[in-house]
Amino acid sequence: MAAIMLVEDDFTIGGLVMSTLRGDGHDVAWVRSGADARRVAARRPVDLILLDLGLPDVDGLDLCRELRRAQSETVLVMLTARREEMDVIMGLESGADDYLTKPFGVDELLARVRAHLRRASQTGDQASSYSCGDLTVDVSVRRCFLAGKEVVLRSKEFDLLSRLVSSAGHALSRETLMSDVWGANWFGSTKTLDVHVAAVRRRLSQAASLQSPPPQVPEIATLRGFGYRMELPRPERETPRPRT
Ligand code: CA
Repeated sequence: MAAIMLVEDDFTIGGLVMSTLRGDGHDVAWVRSGADARRVAARRPVDLILLDLGLPDVDGLDLCRELRRAQSETVLVMLTARREEMDVIMGLESGADDYLTKPFGVDELLARVRAHLRRASQTGDQASSYSCGDLTVDVSVRRCFLAGKEVVLRSKEFDLLSRLVSSAGHALSRETLMSDVWGANWFGSTKTLDVHVAAVRRRLSQAASLQSPPPQVPEIATLRGFGYRMELPRPERETPRPRT
């Protein structure tokens, strides 16, 4: 049984989602406004949040960022009627781990929620760390270091990076990454992966630029039509010796 917060102002959708999740054995708190969502999030940690982006009292993306700050380890899935690609990307960049586009079916909802909860319960079981060049990912404490300095990542960004680093030098298909990091082969939320890869690249290069001299950031190569590969560090280039 998981603790789930459902933030949805639409009675029809909210009622359906709540009865579906309760029927699956979960403890569901259904709130209909941003103010109530804040109150519930401040009171207790939840395992998963389903967040409707179109709420009457707050901007959905602002609330998404707030909930992410308040509950950094929860799984945050946005429910969006906004079909525009940009809105989905903004939501993912505001801290959501994934999204469901309305209208969605009960089966899709359940498959998605179960997969996320399964993934969340698995993380923390491993006790190992992986390295690639100056980058180290410590899975047991869920921390990432670049040349010894910590890089703060969101939960799914960390999962994605550790998966890539654990197979550094090997090509990983989109399906493998979606399955290993998000827990299932989705019904088409392919932007989720690309936005998270972009965020990880940005965080690593920002972290590198703060150090002097900047460490070499291992590259996440895009493999067109296939997936991604974490590149192994290039061998040090030989520096010409000064003439004596
Ligand atoms: Ca709404």
